[in-house]
Amino acid sequence: MQQILDDIAAQMALETELGQVADYIPQLAHVDPNQFGISVATPDGQVYAAGDASTLFSIQSISKVFTLTIGLGKLGNTLWSHVGREPSGDPFNSITILEYESGRPRNPFINAGAIAVVDAIMMGHEPREILGEILQFVHFVADDDSIRFDHRVAASEMAHRDRNAALAHFMKSFGHLKHEVNKVLGVYFHQCSIAMSCQQLARAGLFLVSNGVNQHTGIRVINPQRSKRINSLMMMCGHYDGSGEFAYRVGLPGKSGVGGGILTIAPGKGSIAVWSPGLDPVGNSKLGLKALELLVEKTGWSVFSD
Ligand code: GLU
Repeated sequence: MQQILDDIAAQMALETELGQVADYIPQLAHVDPNQFGISVATPDGQVYAAGDASTLFSIQSISKVFTLTIGLGKLGNTLWSHVGREPSGDPFNSITILEYESGRPRNPFINAGAIAVVDAIMMGHEPREILGEILQFVHFVADDDSIRFDHRVAASEMAHRDRNAALAHFMKSFGHLKHEVNKVLGVYFHQCSIAMSCQQLARAGLFLVSNGVNQHTGIRVINPQRSKRINSLMMMCGHYDGSGEFAYRVGLPGKSGVGGGILTIAPGKGSIAVWSPGLDPVGNSKLGLKALELLVEKTGWSVFSD
């Protein structure tokens, strides 16, 4: 595995078409696109890494996997009255489909859906308490208490919140949000601002590799059925309107973020985190996707391989 990752990192270093960094969040516009990291955590206790795998980056929408897991833990199947589980086929920040579906977002991985999940898990609590809970959960799954919010990124998103605020107000007009929009957005932007390295993120995904158990700590995080279902959602909805392309090229459940990270789960085999800040036109890491395609080719880890 180490050799495979070293080869992929060497190959990515030769790439010249890096894509665009997400400059609609001013704080992310400063990130150097010439970076690439990859890490794989396997159930037998190993963590492999290559390239800039220990550099911290903004996990952005990858955090939606963690808040979905928290939401299902708190509300069980009631969560599905707040958000659907169908692919949207629309961009991550699209408002159009909300109108056709009475303000109920299509899935928990588009912005509207993630905002609805935050509202659902707040349950009358103050943002500070929920943020504490989210960070604690990330510490728990990654087995690493050093992980933090990047308050500058959260503030940058809050200052440029118009689109997400529009989504939230629109949902609220249909009665789908219970809390004050700015409080919900404050939590949402902080969860997106969590800074992690590929190595930390690969470890954090381990619970989805082994039916809900983090095999490095031996602790069960969720039950097997829930783990399977979160993976299904990642497979179908994890990359916005690029979800079909990701399934076609990689064949694994995954979740991308506009910080350029992608968390990918190879059930029973390993948790893979890649990061390169340059994005393709639909907002997924350009080199990240290429690297995962290579990894799957070299390991045969696609869920569609036997
Ligand atoms: N915080 C970002 C936003 O709301 C998340 C988008 C993403 O990573 O897809 O625009």
